[in-house]
Amino acid sequence: MKVEVDYRLCEGHEQCVMQAPEVFQIGESDEQVRLVTDTPAEEQWDDVELASRMCPRGAITLEG
Ligand code: SF4
Repeated sequence: MKVEVDYRLCEGHEQCVMQAPEVFQIGESDEQVRLVTDTPAEEQWDDVELASRMCPRGAITLEG
Protein backbone atom coordinates (compact mmCIF):
# COMPACT_ATOMS: atom_id res chain seq x y z
CA MET A 1 0.00 0.00 0.00
CA LYS A 2 1.13 3.52 -0.86
CA VAL A 3 -0.41 6.55 0.87
CA GLU A 4 -0.66 10.00 -0.66
CA VAL A 5 -2.04 13.21 0.84
CA ASP A 6 -3.29 15.95 -1.47
CA TYR A 7 -1.99 19.08 0.23
CA ARG A 8 -4.29 21.27 -1.88
CA LEU A 9 -7.16 19.66 0.07
CA CYS A 10 -5.82 18.87 3.57
CA GLU A 11 -7.04 21.32 6.22
CA GLY A 12 -5.54 19.62 9.24
CA HIS A 13 -8.76 18.21 10.67
CA GLU A 14 -6.80 15.36 12.27
CA GLN A 15 -9.35 12.59 11.75
CA CYS A 16 -6.58 10.66 10.05
CA VAL A 17 -4.27 11.16 13.04
CA MET A 18 -6.92 9.75 15.37
CA GLN A 19 -7.42 6.68 13.21
CA ALA A 20 -3.81 5.89 12.37
CA PRO A 21 -1.33 7.83 14.52
CA GLU A 22 1.54 5.57 13.41
CA VAL A 23 1.12 6.89 9.87
CA PHE A 24 -0.32 10.41 10.18
CA GLN A 25 0.95 13.12 12.52
CA ILE A 26 0.28 16.81 13.05
CA GLY A 27 2.71 18.83 15.16
CA GLU A 28 1.60 21.78 17.28
CA SER A 29 2.61 24.34 14.67
CA ASP A 30 1.56 22.28 11.66
CA GLU A 31 -1.54 23.22 9.69
CA GLN A 32 -1.44 20.07 7.60
CA VAL A 33 -0.74 16.46 8.27
CA ARG A 34 2.68 14.84 7.89
CA LEU A 35 3.15 11.28 6.77
CA VAL A 36 5.36 9.29 9.14
CA THR A 37 5.58 6.76 6.32
CA ASP A 38 3.90 6.55 2.92
CA THR A 39 4.28 2.76 2.86
CA PRO A 40 2.67 1.56 6.11
CA ALA A 41 3.11 -1.96 7.42
CA GLU A 42 0.37 -4.43 6.54
CA GLU A 43 -1.02 -4.49 10.08
CA GLN A 44 -1.74 -0.75 9.75
CA TRP A 45 -3.67 -1.00 6.47
CA ASP A 46 -7.12 -1.27 8.10
CA ASP A 47 -6.48 1.86 10.18
CA VAL A 48 -5.17 3.73 7.13
CA GLU A 49 -8.20 2.76 5.05
CA LEU A 50 -10.47 3.99 7.83
CA ALA A 51 -8.47 7.24 8.02
CA SER A 52 -8.92 7.72 4.29
CA ARG A 53 -12.68 7.23 4.55
CA MET A 54 -12.94 9.55 7.58
CA CYS A 55 -11.04 12.45 6.00
CA PRO A 56 -13.67 15.18 5.48
CA ARG A 57 -11.67 16.62 2.60
CA GLY A 58 -11.07 13.38 0.72
CA ALA A 59 -7.38 14.25 0.77
CA ILE A 60 -5.99 10.76 1.36
CA THR A 61 -5.43 8.48 -1.62
CA LEU A 62 -4.39 4.85 -1.29
CA GLU A 63 -2.75 2.79 -4.01
CA GLY A 64 -2.08 -0.89 -4.08
S1 SF4 B 1 -8.21 14.06 7.99
FE1 SF4 B 1 -7.79 14.79 5.89
S2 SF4 B 1 -7.91 17.01 6.04
FE2 SF4 B 1 -7.64 16.20 8.10
S3 SF4 B 1 -5.44 16.21 8.49
FE3 SF4 B 1 -5.98 14.20 7.71
S4 SF4 B 1 -5.64 14.37 5.49
FE4 SF4 B 1 -5.76 16.43 6.27
